[in-house]
Amino acid sequence: MIYFTVGPTQLNPIVPKAIEQAITDNVLSMSHRSPAFDSLFQETIGNLRSLVHIPSTHAIFFLSSATEAMERIVQNTVASHSYHFVNGSFAERFYKIAQELGKKPTKVEVAYGESFDWKKSTIPKNTELICFTHNETSTGVMLPVEEIYHVAKKNPQALIAVDTVSSMPYVDIDFTKVDCVFFSVQKGFGLPAGLAVIILSPRAMEKAAALDKRGISTGSYHSFRELKKYADKAETPETPNVLDIYLLNTVLKQMLKEGIDTIRKRIETHAAFFETFFHEHPDYQYLSSNPADHSKTIHVVKVPGGSQACRKHLKAYNMVVSSGYKDMKEDYIRIACFPAHTSADIRVLIKLL
Ligand SMILES: *Cc1c(COP(=O)(O)O)cnc(C)c1O
Repeated sequence: MIYFTVGPTQLNPIVPKAIEQAITDNVLSMSHRSPAFDSLFQETIGNLRSLVHIPSTHAIFFLSSATEAMERIVQNTVASHSYHFVNGSFAERFYKIAQELGKKPTKVEVAYGESFDWKKSTIPKNTELICFTHNETSTGVMLPVEEIYHVAKKNPQALIAVDTVSSMPYVDIDFTKVDCVFFSVQKGFGLPAGLAVIILSPRAMEKAAALDKRGISTGSYHSFRELKKYADKAETPETPNVLDIYLLNTVLKQMLKEGIDTIRKRIETHAAFFETFFHEHPDYQYLSSNPADHSKTIHVVKVPGGSQACRKHLKAYNMVVSSGYKDMKEDYIRIACFPAHTSADIRVLIKLL
């Protein structure tokens, strides 16, 4: 089976061998308080820093999921007011988490499949955190990073959070212009689920410390304070998903060898295969009507005979795609275009479609 699903997705082809190697190297029994773990931790963070150019001023921590990252960000950077750009289910989840934590979030919301009218946004001056979903996996809309930077510049009092779960490592983020960036590994990195990474600016760390000082809870073992205390020793507060960290390191080394520019160009070439095919085909239609908003990594299209028949047809040829999200389940399919997907497999998939 080849999984073009949006996450979990096709495993990076080096993963099965890396799992065998992990067993040989006793990674599965490794103590997370051992020197061997410390070097794995340091190497993995170092490789991620090099691959996507994260400045040495920024902290990098491991969490268990991207959903957890949303909760930690709200807990550690917001006393009361967050603001959310909502154009799909994952952005909505971020907003709801802020509500559930007893904060007072506000949002600007657009219809699924649309992007934002950037000239119109008015963000209250008391906003502490502004949240973006760079690539909305439910709708296949990707936001221009320049617009995110522009909002950041216009609201210097606020911290900026960017969900890059289904766009990392394709997205080229300038980490000096935003404060909290996160992703989980089961999408663009082609790894088993159960590990997420959060990247924090010095300002985000300072805000968490300020909340601590005011006696506002920033959480317990995964507060930014505790994460930093342990990361300074190249450790995690809890027993982490050591296998996934090991596998992430292996994939990062491979990506460094290929080079990030080559990977990004490859994704663009592959995305163009899909875009050209769907645009030229009379029966398929992107959910997002504006081609400028189309995600490179998640393609959401309406299929003529319904998604179930289409997915069944593909499955007969060992190809798996995702159905549309929630209400769009019957009519739409979602196809991932991640680094682990090969041109050869994409050609076969397109032919079948
Ligand atoms: C998948 C996804 C999430 C949730 O990731 P988990 O690791 O399952 O918590 C959040 N945001 C986006 C954009 C996603 O695609």
